[in-house]
Amino acid sequence: MSKVTFSIGGVHPADAKIARAHATEVLPLPPTVWISMAQHLGAPATPVVAVGDKVKAGQVIGEPAGFISAFVHSSVSGTVKSIGPRKDIAGNPVNHIEIEVEGDEWAEGIDLSTDIVREIPSDRQFILDRIKANGVVGLGGATFPTHVKLSPPPGKVAECLILNGAECEPYLTSDFRILLERTEEIVIGAAIMRRVLGDCPCVIGIEDNKPEAIAAVREVLASGSYEGISVLPLKKMYPQGGEKQLIDAVMHRQVRSGGLPIDVGAVVQNVATSLAVYEAVQKNKPLVTNVLTVTGDCLDDAHLHNYLFRIGMPLSYIAQYAGGVPEGAAKIISGGPMMGKAIANLDATTVKGSSSLLYLSEKATRRHEAGYCIRCGRCADACPMGLEPFLLNRLYKADDLDGLIAASAQDCIECGCCLYSCPAYIPLLDFVRQAKGRAMGELRARAAAAKAAAEAAKASSSDNDKK
Ligand code: SF4
Ligand code: SF4
Repeated sequence: MSKVTFSIGGVHPADAKIARAHATEVLPLPPTVWISMAQHLGAPATPVVAVGDKVKAGQVIGEPAGFISAFVHSSVSGTVKSIGPRKDIAGNPVNHIEIEVEGDEWAEGIDLSTDIVREIPSDRQFILDRIKANGVVGLGGATFPTHVKLSPPPGKVAECLILNGAECEPYLTSDFRILLERTEEIVIGAAIMRRVLGDCPCVIGIEDNKPEAIAAVREVLASGSYEGISVLPLKKMYPQGGEKQLIDAVMHRQVRSGGLPIDVGAVVQNVATSLAVYEAVQKNKPLVTNVLTVTGDCLDDAHLHNYLFRIGMPLSYIAQYAGGVPEGAAKIISGGPMMGKAIANLDATTVKGSSSLLYLSEKATRRHEAGYCIRCGRCADACPMGLEPFLLNRLYKADDLDGLIAASAQDCIECGCCLYSCPAYIPLLDFVRQAKGRAMGELRARAAAAKAAAEAAKASSSDNDKK
């Protein structure tokens, strides 16, 4: 058992990785896909096709609309039927491109073979251009454009690339499966990212409840072909896969409030992102597929799956293919039970970052009537960011913005450890999420006001100089 872990808080939910033995299956194509233009952090992409256009799989259909944005590609071949708003999993309208599927024809220049390409390009800019052009974004949850994350700002140097293979959320097994099934491609993806980052060391962190994945990576590394890369077994502890928690566990460094991993010399990427980087750079294949887990405590073994899906497949199509929504499912979640989002709309479609279709029974949802805070302090003990969730809850209800900022509500990583540990079943995660939103909104407004005041003062001083 590994003792390597982060230093503050954390909880020990049962891992419930009941789908771990199920090899990845390829989902058949649906009749229609709806591809979202907002599958990444930052500005939604701008559609560059028109209704009636014929498209091929891997063809660009959306262009980035800002520095923090990403290309979106068609995942299928067919005809564009409509472009317009459609509800996402939360029920919010988002611009989508509807494509009626016809055959499975791919755009020119994409290597679809399963041959592993080991020789890594030496040109850093070529690598970054390929990652950008193929729409790669972080698949660990944040969906931040990867080419931006691999370009540290002037004055910042990457000292360590950390590959996140922790998959600490209970139930999820998609990262585990690709670590077993696409091991060498993931390692090559890490080698590519090391090259971009100036050949800094790379540590692949994997929780010790996945010994087969650790052994698979060790076997690839034993070939001696991938210098500078090592695997580090991590203690099974939630949220081991949190960016700041991984940096703490691997590098023993703390990212300050409001800071970025690169401030302490770290760049963190998920193992699924590493696979996407491999495909983008070595195969020129855009990010149009990913693996998701169909799982939950109300499914029997025959209905557990890890599926390779094309982005834009409706969740309802996947649910139906997997056998339908099980009886007794009280809640359907996209993501894990700790941080995932409840699916309000099963007609929503998969996006680049989709990781699961999780069916939880009433019992597993831990839905109880909330009691009163008994000031036990368990939520504060569990918080991996060192916050006091009971206090954030109180300050939020009192609408005390200054108090929320002073109590660092903006540092919450929305991990749900407070909710998990509260004996009074107070829905702390809902409150702290909203508290964080209020604190961050206020901090942004203050920063904008300070910038405007500084610019006004500069303009006024330049006017005075001219007089
Ligand atoms: S959700 Fe936020 S407040 Fe609650 S434990 Fe996680 S970081 Fe702390
Ligand atoms: S864990 Fe729940 S009951 Fe205990 S202090 Fe926190 S909010 Fe109150």
